This record gives sequence, structure tokens and C-alpha cells, in this order.
Amino acid sequence: MCQEVGHAVQLALSRRGLLKAGAGASVAALSLMLGGAPVTAAAAPAAVDDAAAGFDTRLILLGTAGGPAWFPGSSRHGIASALQVRELTYMIDCGDGAARQLAHALMRASPGAHPFQLLEPLRALFFTHLHSDHVVDYNNLLLQGWTAGIGRRQPLDVLGPGPRGELPPTFQVPGRPRAQPDVVFPDAPTPGTVQMTDGIFRAFATDINDRVRDYLWPDVRTLVNVRDIALPPIAGFVSPNQTPAPTMEPFPVWSDANVRVSATLVEHAPVFPSFAFRFDSEQGSVVFSGDTGPCQNLVRLARNADVLVHEVIDAAWVDALFPPPLDATTEALKHHLLSAHTSIEDAGRIAEQAGARTLVLSHVIPHNVGDDRLRGASRHYSGRLVPGHDLAAIGIGRRRAA
Ligand SMILES: [Zn+2]
Ligand SMILES: [Zn+2]
Repeated sequence: MCQEVGHAVQLALSRRGLLKAGAGASVAALSLMLGGAPVTAAAAPAAVDDAAAGFDTRLILLGTAGGPAWFPGSSRHGIASALQVRELTYMIDCGDGAARQLAHALMRASPGAHPFQLLEPLRALFFTHLHSDHVVDYNNLLLQGWTAGIGRRQPLDVLGPGPRGELPPTFQVPGRPRAQPDVVFPDAPTPGTVQMTDGIFRAFATDINDRVRDYLWPDVRTLVNVRDIALPPIAGFVSPNQTPAPTMEPFPVWSDANVRVSATLVEHAPVFPSFAFRFDSEQGSVVFSGDTGPCQNLVRLARNADVLVHEVIDAAWVDALFPPPLDATTEALKHHLLSAHTSIEDAGRIAEQAGARTLVLSHVIPHNVGDDRLRGASRHYSGRLVPGHDLAAIGIGRRRAA
């Protein structure tokens, strides 16, 4: 989830008068609404799946929560995933708590690792898009990771969207024109990954200069190699606002001896660019949907993948968030929220269409959706379904010889 969900929750709260001071917003009322009436058993974190320990290639779900919110009854961390191939680790997104979750995962993988070397296996980090719920722990990864070994063997490669290039349109409802809000930082209103990283380093310059001078640490900026992902020429692309996810073929973005990474644009308007990634290794293929509505570009990217990690939103929760009757603004916002994400049932349909052998549901909205509801994806999907939980691990390909 992204900003849309935050807006939706805020709007729903304000409709009920719960945002006004003294309006009697009881914890119980908030809990009921944020939890959503249809929610069943609370999501519980899963232990690392020991069976996956026997594989050289493993997917680890570091955090499985979608969106910038904390929900009652859930301990999910923000969205982030790791793919371990042989001795190296590749990270996809860096949501709330991701750095600590990565440390936990690597401690479990290498119990004897020295704390100052723990993150040395991290080879590259990929951002699907720059919504805060996907990047908010990036500064933590960089600055805590500075002592934990990032970039020590070779600079950590960081790849993500470039600058959007134009401001997104102001959300409008037909017949109810809305004034344009003031632009935040008009000198650079839509920075990409490189500029965002520079901004983090500038914000922490006091700490960085202190440690470089007092502890004689290497300049943290030399430990990362940050790159905006360049889009290839795309037939039918007009502009970020008009064609945020035109029909396209996947394109290569990065590779090393272990993996080849390709990407495609997905349907998460007005976010642009918003990527899904595919990792192909000797042991199999894993696809990360990023945030998207049902998307044929993603189906092409995930064709015959061994594992598809797909985002989900519980449409029943959205219905409960916006009980009828709905005015035009609320109706439009509800539609906007649902179209930027994928319902549980549609995630099953997409995985079936792609022929993915395993579907892992992550970026779960709301965070406290029960597994019984997530298993609803199986109604339209004949492969193996895994409701995602933090630190769950899935082996890919062949088991390591004993
Ligand atoms: Zn998100
Ligand atoms: Zn998003």
C-alpha cells in the first residue's frame, strides 16, 4: 500500500469525525475500523523454515506489510525481501524495520558471523518504487550497515527508479475541481534513487563527519554504488502521467555471476516508474511484483517463474473501510485504492495466467489479514500458495548435497 491507503484511512477517519480532537475516538473504535470487520485471525510471524536451510538459493521474506501504517494484531515489518544465492544476498525494497530483519536473517544463516561483518554478503539492493513504505529503512540500512559490513568486499550496488520528471496530477473527482496544492521542494519535487541517497547522506552529515574523523571510518558514500534504472525505448510511452505502465517487454537491469535481473513497468499509477523485478539464477527464477494492480506486463515478466511474490489488498477490508452510501469523492478514492493494488483473488488469477509454480503473498494490506483469507487466492490458482510471513524462507531449485 502506499500513499493511497493512508489517504483512504485518513478520509475514512475524518468521515467518522475520529480525527477531530475530543470526538470520542476510542481505541476500540479505531481498532475495529483499522482492523476491518472481516479480518479473521491475526497474522503471526513465522519462524525461518528450516527446510529451506538445505538450499543454496533461498527467498527470505524480511517484511510482509504493505503501506505506511501500523495495524493492531500484527507484528509484520515493512515490505522487504531477500534472495540468497550461494554466498551473496540480494535485497528487494527496504520498508519499516528491513535493516534489522536482514540482520536477523543473516545471523540465522551464519550464526558465527561477527557483528561488524554481518552484512558483507549483501551485494545489491533494488527498489521497486519510491513510496515511503518501500524505502523508509534505507537510511537505517546505510548508516547501521556502515558498521555491519555493507560494501566492504565491494561497493553495495543500489538500483531504483530515476526521477519521475513531472509532478503527478492532483487527485480530481469529476464535477468537483480541486485546487493545486503547493509543490514541496519545487527545485527537486520528484527525486530518483540517486538524489534520494544523496539527500540521506546530507541529512546525516554530522554523524558521517564525526565517524570519519573520530573513528577513522571510510566515507560511507564510497561503500555504495547507486544508480537510477534507465528505461529502454518503449513504443507507446507518452509521459509518466499519460502512460505510466505501457505494454512492454521486460528489460535487463543488472547481472553478476549468480543472477540476471530484469524489470518491467507495472500498474501503480500515479507512481512512475514503478517496477517489478525478475531474478533468474541457475537454481530458478523469482519475481517480485512491487506494488501493482493486475498487470499484463507482470504476467509476461513472471512467465513460468518458480516463485512469484505478489502484493495483495483485501478488497473486503476496503469495502468495510468505505461503507455505503458513498459520495463521489469517496467512491473515486475507493476505486483509486483498489486499482493501484491487487485483490487476493486477482493475485491468484495473475499467478495462474503467468504459470508461476509458487505464489507467495506479501505486501499484505491490511497487515492483520488472516491466512485463511489469504488462502482465497487458491480459488483461481492451481500452484503452491504461500501466505507470506516475516522471516519465512523458501528454498529454490535443488537441495544442497548432504
Ligand atoms: Zn507499498
Ligand atoms: Zn506503492
